[in-house]
Amino acid sequence: MPGRRGAACVSVLGSTVGLEGAYIKMVEYRDKVLKCVDCGAEFIFTAGEQLFFADKNFKNEPKRCKACKAKRNAALSGGTGYSKVETTTICSQCGKETTVPFKPTQGRPVYCRECFQQRRAASASAAM
Ligand SMILES: [Zn+2]
Ligand SMILES: [Zn+2]
Repeated sequence: MPGRRGAACVSVLGSTVGLEGAYIKMVEYRDKVLKCVDCGAEFIFTAGEQLFFADKNFKNEPKRCKACKAKRNAALSGGTGYSKVETTTICSQCGKETTVPFKPTQGRPVYCRECFQQRRAASASAAM
């Protein structure tokens, strides 16, 4: 029958807001079926996630299913040009392979964390 849609249901429950405020807040959010913009698969935007989004003031609904989101995140963190850059290089002092959170400049020595700290400690004590 017409009118028995989600909205009508919520307004009926809404009349008991004074009694069960917290319960109603959960009821306002219903699992929603969204379509992934990447693979076109339908995925569930759960009430819990909607609550989380509302809590964080996220204005946009998720556009991708979990699988595509994970893939995208992996691609982003693996790619360059983003703030988190990890470059694998060889330590100029001990020759050990290490990763540095920046792009090493050609010709400039790069040290692993231990050597970097060693050198810093050495220069600090030398300054005294
Ligand atoms: Zn997808
Ligand atoms: Zn080293």
